[in-house]
Amino acid sequence: MNNLMNMSLENLENYFISIGEKKFKAIQIFEWLYIHKEKNIDNFSNIKKELREKLKKDFNLDFIKIKKKEEDELVKKYLFELKDNNYVEAVLMNHDYGLSVCVSSQVGCNMGCKFCESGRLKKVRNLETYEMVQEIILIEEDIKEKINSVVVMGIGEPFDNYDNVINFIKMINHNKGLSIGARHITISTCGLVPKIEEFSNLPLQVNLALSLHAPTDEIRNRIMPINKVYNISQVINAINNYISKTNRRVTIEYVMLNMVNDSKECAIKLASLLKGMNVYVNLIPYNETNNIDFKKSDKINEFKNILLSKGINATVRKEFGSNISAACGQLRSKEV
Ligand code: SAH
Repeated sequence: MNNLMNMSLENLENYFISIGEKKFKAIQIFEWLYIHKEKNIDNFSNIKKELREKLKKDFNLDFIKIKKKEEDELVKKYLFELKDNNYVEAVLMNHDYGLSVCVSSQVGCNMGCKFCESGRLKKVRNLETYEMVQEIILIEEDIKEKINSVVVMGIGEPFDNYDNVINFIKMINHNKGLSIGARHITISTCGLVPKIEEFSNLPLQVNLALSLHAPTDEIRNRIMPINKVYNISQVINAINNYISKTNRRVTIEYVMLNMVNDSKECAIKLASLLKGMNVYVNLIPYNETNNIDFKKSDKINEFKNILLSKGINATVRKEFGSNISAACGQLRSKEV
């Protein structure tokens, strides 16, 4: 049975019309779910009893559960248990500009990036929309504060679960939903070219980030198997098309791995690859995991300065929670 929180406002309107009800009931349902945060359909008091019974026959309102929490001053890490006993995680970060949550989009991941903990456990399944929405709702409930921004950068490749992720974005963005501004939502992809193209036609002002992590195919092939499917020139081409269609600046993520992609030559090649594009580079300090093949680079500032000197915008990502297994997938892989 479908979870009520899988339903976009539009889908709910169509549902009510199909059962001979007025479509404004959909807004009332949204208000119960996302404004009053009511978890029991029986308590939807402005919906008449018969209709509540009909809703309960057609939908469930199951919730995922917080299984475990780890925290320090700046970050809280949540492990969620799903209805089928799978686990995913989300991270709450306290930035100077507000509270931000990093959500997971799949149970496991099939992209196989060599340095990433999430991919050590293959994809079990896609997350449904309601599971992603509830990652946010349960965190808001836990901290009793509103989340200001969302990044889809947890476990999973969001563009490998495109429809559910886009539905999720629309629901958290909706003013009768969680009202999170589109400009405060970012989706990060390892570079699935056809989906980047599809995403550029979406009439939503959501941010896009690309996990590039290498300036040449030779290096990228070694750390990101997806590069053998969509190579750097194909991905950069898709990003350029996205920028010219949407006029939006794209974030290029670059995780700094010691002796892998952190040399001066890499910085120079990256600068010439990105020259003239409306992008900025976010250099990510590597969060070390049990994988001994990868170590954190100590050349991040040097790398950043080369990019800046070549006219490329670059920042270093603030480090969060390395002492509470905050690297993507670490909490889950400890549990499983
Ligand atoms: N699949 C998507 C989103 C999930 S990962 C993507 O690839 O973009 C979010 C970001 O964290 C990606 O840039 C990923 O490469 C990076 N990442 C993965 N493991 C990391 C680690 N241990 N330390 C720092 N960044 C990591």
